[in-house]
Amino acid sequence: MDSTAGSLEARAAIVTLPTAVLAQDAVRFDPPLPASHRQAIEALPLGVCNKVFFRLRDMQGFARNLPRHFIGSGGTSRTCSWEALPGGRPLLMAYFGGDLSAELEKRGELVQFARDELRRIFGGGVFNELDDALATAWGSDPCSLGSYSAARPGHADARSRLAEPVSERLHLAGEACAVHHYGTLYGAWLSGVAAAERLL
Ligand SMILES: Cc1cc2nc3c(=O)[nH]c(=O)nc-3n(C[C@H](O)[C@H](O)[C@H](O)COP(=O)(O)OP(=O)(O)OC[C@H]3O[C@@H](n4cnc5c(N)ncnc54)[C@H](O)[C@@H]3O)c2cc1C
Repeated sequence: MDSTAGSLEARAAIVTLPTAVLAQDAVRFDPPLPASHRQAIEALPLGVCNKVFFRLRDMQGFARNLPRHFIGSGGTSRTCSWEALPGGRPLLMAYFGGDLSAELEKRGELVQFARDELRRIFGGGVFNELDDALATAWGSDPCSLGSYSAARPGHADARSRLAEPVSERLHLAGEACAVHHYGTLYGAWLSGVAAAERLL
C-alpha cells in the first residue's frame, strides 16, 4: 500500500472505506476492483444524516423538564427529531435526515434551521438556556462523503456482493457490507471480524 505517509507491505488487507469514498476513486486499486464490486459500490450510495448539538447552560429546570425525545413538527418531513441529554450530557441534539439534511448542510444552515425549530416550539426564551452549537457535516467530510449506505431499490444483494473477497489478499468490510446490521457500528465491526476470519 502506497500513500503520502509512506508505504506498507502486508500479507493481506481489509479495506473499510465508505462506499462514497470508494466510488470517487480517492484510493486507487491496482489491479482495479472487479466489475461486480464496482457495481455493488454504485448500488450502495451514502445518505446524508447530520446532527446539531446545543450545549445546555445547566442540567436544572429547563433541561430537567425536557421530554427525552420529540419531533419538531408532525406535519412535514422537513423537520428534525430531537433528543435531550444524550448520554446524560447537558446537550440538546437535533437529528436531520433525507434531502433536508443534505440541503441544509450544503447551505451551511443546519444550526439556523434547528434554532428556528426551537424558537417555534419553546419561544425565544429557549436561547437563554443554551450556549454554543455545533453541527456535523458528513456529506462534505472528504473521509466520509455521507453518513450511512442505502441500497438502491432492487439492490439489497449488493451488500453481500461487496463483502465477497476481492482476491485472496484483499477484502472489503465496513457498514455497507453488513447484510443485516448495515448503518450501524456493530454491523461494521462484525463485517470486519468476518473478513479477518476469512483471511486468517
Ligand atoms: C449521524 C450518524 C448517527 C449514527 N448513529 C449511530 C448509532 O446510534 N448507532 C450505531 O450503531 N451506528 C450509528 N451510526 C453509524 C455508524 O457510525 C457507522 O455505521 C459506522 O461508523 C461505519 O463504520 P465503518 O468502519 O464502515 O466506516 P467509517 O466509520 O466511516 O470508517 C471509514 C474510515 O475510512 C477513513 N478514510 C476515508 N477516506 C480515507 C482515505 N482516502 N484514506 C485513508 N482513510 C480514509 C475514514 O477516516 C474512517 O476512519 C451513525 C452514523 C451517523 C452519520
